[in-house]
Amino acid sequence: MAKRYDYLVVGAGFAGSVVSERLATELDKKVLLVDKRNHTGGNSYDYYDDAGVLVHKYGAHIFHSNHDDVWRYVNRFAQWNGYTHRVLAYVDGLKLPIPINLTTVNTLLKKDFDEQGLRDYLQSVRLNIGQIKNSRDVVVSQVGEFLYEKFFKNYTFKQWGVLPDALSPEVTKRIPLRFNTDDRYFGDKYEGLPVDGFFKLFDRMLAHKNITIALNTDYKKIINDVKFDNLIYTGPIDYFFDNMHGELPYRSQRFEFETLDREYYQEVAVVNYPNDYEFTKITESKHFTKQIHPKTTIVREFPEADGEPYYPVPMDSAAAIYEKYKKEADKLKTVHFAGRLDQYKYYNMDQAVKRALELFNSIAAPKK
Ligand code: FAD
Ligand code: UDP
Repeated sequence: MAKRYDYLVVGAGFAGSVVSERLATELDKKVLLVDKRNHTGGNSYDYYDDAGVLVHKYGAHIFHSNHDDVWRYVNRFAQWNGYTHRVLAYVDGLKLPIPINLTTVNTLLKKDFDEQGLRDYLQSVRLNIGQIKNSRDVVVSQVGEFLYEKFFKNYTFKQWGVLPDALSPEVTKRIPLRFNTDDRYFGDKYEGLPVDGFFKLFDRMLAHKNITIALNTDYKKIINDVKFDNLIYTGPIDYFFDNMHGELPYRSQRFEFETLDREYYQEVAVVNYPNDYEFTKITESKHFTKQIHPKTTIVREFPEADGEPYYPVPMDSAAAIYEKYKKEADKLKTVHFAGRLDQYKYYNMDQAVKRALELFNSIAAPKK
């Protein structure tokens, strides 16, 4: 690594990989991309397991976006399989569509509402909350306490270790409410998975003579040995600043894989278990990869307090700590920050790509 790089990029997830590709391709910059893991792709990484089933190492990752520029960009590196995500929630022994829709309510309550009937029912049970202050308010102000308790309260507690009233509204706001029978999980314009896997998408994105990749490498171990002009960092922001303002809270997750000698295990790719078991969901990737295989692999997701930081925790106390780090980050002229963990934002993949493209644009054409 004796040579000089224009950019040292930390983290080979979407954020770091997109900005590396852009710098190498458009500006002919020499990039050293490092990741402490043994693969590129960050949390979106997938691979073929021992049985030959394509699985997602860090939980189901479904690409979805309303951004035309993001969709155009990712289409350069993959063909997309047109998958539409659907999720069921196991409640009172029934598997019901989530987000809550007409079918969910009619089946659970043994009713026969039409759209107007559902609106009238929800109007009668919703709580009148003035200002929406937290993730509980979001739900009970739309569907009332009964449905909140069945679908949101316990799931959220398992997922985050706190009840919804301790979390910012943005957490449960991610889940819409539908008055019709539309059972898509996301309502975005574009959706799907790369036909031959995310890992291939990243291989193609990063196959450029200007990009050198160093895996199994924590950047702090090499930073004093590498010559570079600029740094782009997409890891946890508190780690970057040696926790000088204290540790930010992150939520972790354990993934338990099981391969079964049958073609399919469940009806859809994801079944949520809000009230039963310690895991939040069971994922079966064959539904969204569309792989044809005599066996299947399922994954149970167990949220945990400690371990690899997967989720920034959207609560006020964490936001206050993040603001202190943001102020430090703003002072640095040759370091740029992009990504889910350094922005401490609940980004989806497309938002990480969008933010990386914006960062590249600001580097390519700096504002005067
Ligand atoms: P990451 O993908 O996390 O990449 C950051 C990289 O930085 C990692 O590879 C890490 O190893 C590396 N790194 C960190 N610190 C260091 C260091 N010190 N030195 C070197 N390398 C370092 N989004 C969707 O759009 N759809 C979904 O269905 C979806 N499902 C998800 C399910 C789960 C369980 C999780 C946790 C997230 C999900 N997401 C989903 C969000 C998605 O994972 C993120 O939006 C995306 O990964 C953000 O990309 P990133 O590059 O910012 O971060
Ligand atoms: N949620 C819930 N019950 C569900 C699905 C989601 O309570 O069946 C809540 C939970 O707090 C979750 C949040 O809504 O963290 C956002 O859900 P989403 O599926 O967007 O989370 P992701 O797993 O993608 O981070």
